[in-house]
Formats: sequence, structure tokens, C-alpha cells
Amino acid sequence: MKKYISLLIIFLFVIVLAGCSFLKNKTELSDMDAIKKRGYLIVGVKSDSPPFGYYKDGKLVGIDIEIAHNIANYIFKNDSPANIKFVKVNAQNRIQKLNSKEVDILVATMSINEKRKLVMSFSIPYFVANQKIMVRKTSKISHLQYFNKNGRLAVVMGTTGEKISRLIAPNARLIGARTYNEAYNLLLNSQVDAILGDDCILAGYNDGRFKIVNRAYSREYYAVAIRKDEHSKDLLNCINAAITVLLDEKKLNLIKSRYFIY
Ligand code: GLU
Repeated sequence: MKKYISLLIIFLFVIVLAGCSFLKNKTELSDMDAIKKRGYLIVGVKSDSPPFGYYKDGKLVGIDIEIAHNIANYIFKNDSPANIKFVKVNAQNRIQKLNSKEVDILVATMSINEKRKLVMSFSIPYFVANQKIMVRKTSKISHLQYFNKNGRLAVVMGTTGEKISRLIAPNARLIGARTYNEAYNLLLNSQVDAILGDDCILAGYNDGRFKIVNRAYSREYYAVAIRKDEHSKDLLNCINAAITVLLDEKKLNLIKSRYFIY
């Protein structure tokens, strides 16, 4: 008899626990509902990555900034500037800012890759870049493998450039810059001989004193990053729908044509 009573108590305990977790899931708002309730979307963007996210005349502008506005307009069905707030992120802190819920999404020159897919979800891609090296104009360096034996190479830490450099030039004297600006200054002052990075961002830093070597080391598919979470599903669907509209209506081409300088 005692045995049956113990089993009954365990059974009831399990039922109560299951009920609690069901209620918790029911009451927790989806990301989309939380954003709508708050009244604005919080987007993590770069501020040092022209032409995607950068300052011009004291204003944050760029392709990522415009895509973010389009997503917010799609969510709120209006184009009020109050429907969005930007938080500046960099390559080292963006994933942490997303997963700690400081931002709802990242529109931050973020490439899709398998390692990142373990800790976040990605939208459909909205842009394709290529990893290349940028060298000083007079330089004779023509490939990344050069750095296995010679010179110094700069990468921005936390980017896919860091990963590619370790794969293709594992013996390079690698200098990790915290920002693109820091990498640019290293190259300008001859403290490094090249920067490895996404061609479109390098082009944004090429003020005529450098050249981008036309040899690509990886394809970089930029996408919006969202938390990898069951509460993010409707937000992800909505972002994909907003990007599809931008692609179908060729609005993305129009946005790009306003920023591209190469
Ligand atoms: N797209 C690359 C990445 O996701 C490099 C650009 C960046 O700094 O974000 O790492």
C-alpha cells in the first residue's frame, strides 16, 4: 500500500511540474509580441562599417540601417522613425548583445556560418560579400598565402576574416584589431601589410591610398541575426517576409545603389 501511495505522490508531483512549465511557456510573450507591446524594435548595428553602418554628418546611415528601418516599418505597418532604436555593436560583442536581449535583432554585416548557427538563427541572406585583402597602393602582395612566410596581416577580431586567416595563412603574423578604423590605421602607418576582410567594407575604407586584391577567399552571406529560441519564430518569419519584399520589389538594389562607391 505504502508503495502505491509513494508512486501516486511522484505521479502528482510530475503532473504539477509539467503544468508549471506549460503555464510558463503560455505566459511568456513571443519576441514579436514583446516588440509590439514595447512599441519599437531594438536593432544592433555597426557604426564603423561603411557602407553598411557608419556615421555621416553625425548621423548613423548605411545599407544595414535602411534594411533595419524597412523591417521595423513592416512589423509596425507604419514608417514612423519612432518605431526603431539603434544600439551600436561591434564584431566582438554583437552575439552577446543579442543573446542577453539588449537588442532584438542584429543587422550588422553578419555572415551566416555553421558555428554561429549553433547560437543564433539567421534570416534569408540580403547581401553577398567576398573576403579579400586590401594592401597599400604600391604593394606587390598578390595573395593571402604570402603572409605564411612574410609580413604582417591585420584582421578585425570576431569577424570571419579572423577565421579565414587562420585557415589559409595559419603561420601569418596576425595583428588583431578591435575596429576597422584601427585596422585601417595599422595599414596606413605600415604597421601591417594588408587587412583581410569583406571587400565591400574594405572598399568603404579605401580612400585612394590602397587597393583591394582581386582574389576572393570566401563568400560571405549577410543575414539578419535573431535569437535561437522558440519565442523568435514569428519574428524570424516576419523579417524574412520583409526582406523578400525588398528583394522582389528591387528596393534593395535601389538602397545599395545609393551607397556603393565601387
Ligand atoms: N561579415 C563578416 C562577419 O560577419 C565580417 C564583417 C564584420 O565585421 O561583421 O564577421
